[in-house]
Amino acid sequence: MFKLLIPPSHPRRESLLIRERLVEGFKRGLVALEGLIAHGRGECFDYLIGEKTQPFALKAIEAGVAALLLAEYPVISVNGNVAALVAKEVVELAKVIDAKIEVNLFYRTREREKAIAEWLKEHGAEEVLGVGEDASATIPELFSERRRVSPRGILVADVVLVPLEDGDRTEALRKMGKTVITIDLNPLSRTARAANITIVDNIVRAMPLMIKKAEELKGWSRERLRRVLENYDNNEVLQEALKHILHRLESLSNSKLVLEIEEACRTSSE
Ligand code: ATP
Repeated sequence: MFKLLIPPSHPRRESLLIRERLVEGFKRGLVALEGLIAHGRGECFDYLIGEKTQPFALKAIEAGVAALLLAEYPVISVNGNVAALVAKEVVELAKVIDAKIEVNLFYRTREREKAIAEWLKEHGAEEVLGVGEDASATIPELFSERRRVSPRGILVADVVLVPLEDGDRTEALRKMGKTVITIDLNPLSRTARAANITIVDNIVRAMPLMIKKAEELKGWSRERLRRVLENYDNNEVLQEALKHILHRLESLSNSKLVLEIEEACRTSSE
């Protein structure tokens, strides 16, 4: 319905449709209020990046998929925003790479855990970890509900995909010796800087590309996948993301910014 209200030519159409999915997710009890705000931070960086997947993201997608395919026990972590935006893609990617799916919330409540798990199941997930009693293990060094994970999921995983994650948890997962892959539009966030592989892109664009890449790389030998990882440098990728923003702003700052608005002719009586 909302879709029909935004004309196809609207410059912010995609962005507005994504917002609407989050609002829907909030109404369904998937997304926390704080999640709506977190999305705003992401949107701002998407604006700066140019709202298109850039070469540095493609490099990270390839490395991330290689790491997931090489993993012994890969897990995809899902929070409210991830569920609202890419539930179908999470389920599809998990099937292609044979990964577990775990609900992993910053603002954990039973209701939200259950709502997210149900939503993922409606989108084809057979099993969803991290719900209720299953989230009985804890990540060392973290406090409160944020530290709870599944002993059959993130706790024992060797590689975790944790999109839109918070910095403390990313650092704690790294300290536990896990390979951490994230999707985060902000190349300066602590998560982006603490992860092993950072896909600086909107999750809505990145996930379908990851699925495609996983289907392609599934046919590669382990040796070839390992070479992808050996040649990958996350620091370089983050630098490229920042340089891209820098060059974009440089060129925009030298261009004409004001919009020409055609004003209606005033009549003499006005
Ligand atoms: P950190 O603790 O890692 O420094 P943060 O406190 O800035 O992170 P959070 O609110 O914990 O951020 O997490 C949200 C992160 O997800 C932000 O860095 C934001 O840029 C990013 N983000 C939000 N929406 C999207 C999206 N649709 N796609 C990709 N990244 C997103």
